Amino acid sequence: SPLLEVRGLTASVKETGQQILAGVDLTIREGEIHAIMGKNGSGKSTLTKVLVGHPHYEVTGGTILFKGEDLVDMEPEERSLAGLFMSFQAPIEIPGVSNFDFLLMAVNARREKSGLPALGPLEFYSVVSPKVDALKMDPKFLDRNVNEGFSGGERKRNEILQLSVIGADLALLDEIDSGLDVDALEDIANAVNGLLTPKNSVLMITHYQRLLDLIKPSYVHIMESGKIIKTGDSSIATQINEGGFKSIALV
Ligand code: ADP
Ligand code: MG
Ligand code: MG
Repeated sequence: SPLLEVRGLTASVKETGQQILAGVDLTIREGEIHAIMGKNGSGKSTLTKVLVGHPHYEVTGGTILFKGEDLVDMEPEERSLAGLFMSFQAPIEIPGVSNFDFLLMAVNARREKSGLPALGPLEFYSVVSPKVDALKMDPKFLDRNVNEGFSGGERKRNEILQLSVIGADLALLDEIDSGLDVDALEDIANAVNGLLTPKNSVLMITHYQRLLDLIKPSYVHIMESGKIIKTGDSSIATQINEGGFKSIALV
């Protein structure tokens, strides 16, 4: 079975009942890279949030199967332990918890689930340190409290550090390219490409061709009014880049 199989997914804002997702179909197999593009407000971020179980949204219909298991009734933490990763959109600051401690806790929770012994701080340092270097982050970053006073660029690098340390079968990356300069974008793309194996997959949301030139998608989807209305290869992205969304024929 596919890694992720979404069928007829509808979802609403819990508080108001306003429908946002209007019947999403999406299949992602092992080793595939998918990109979702679409105008502002088309429901891209909501889709990723619903997939990870964000509490503001309610699934009102359809199915989400991840590794053949129904995700809809699983808590966000269970989804994450099952191998679904999402970069934190509005990361919370956690006073008194360093980045290092936070990552070590996340890694040990997964090791415990797999019946592996917990890593000690020294052992973990030797794992995390080369990844910090690869992302060209200051090692002092590990001692800082989670998300405290991060710049936009640091936040993005931190999200990818979390992904590379924690690992994932499916990573949902929502606009990891927003607000990054070209060098930072390249570091992040290299890190993501370095994580790809024939077993794991990425779903990325972007407005920009430049990200898709660095992380090459197997499929590009266009989302509009809460649905995926077109799927194709990376030539769709080129077409949008050149002629805008209006240039896409919706057959
Ligand atoms: P995109 O990521 O494609 O720009 P979003 O998924 O963020 O779009 O939003 C899709 C639509 O749903 C927008 O009109 C947005 O205002 C609305 N929406 C999303 N989340 C909420 C929410 N929690 N409360 C009210 N409206 C929301
Ligand atoms: Mg938006
Ligand atoms: Mg969005």
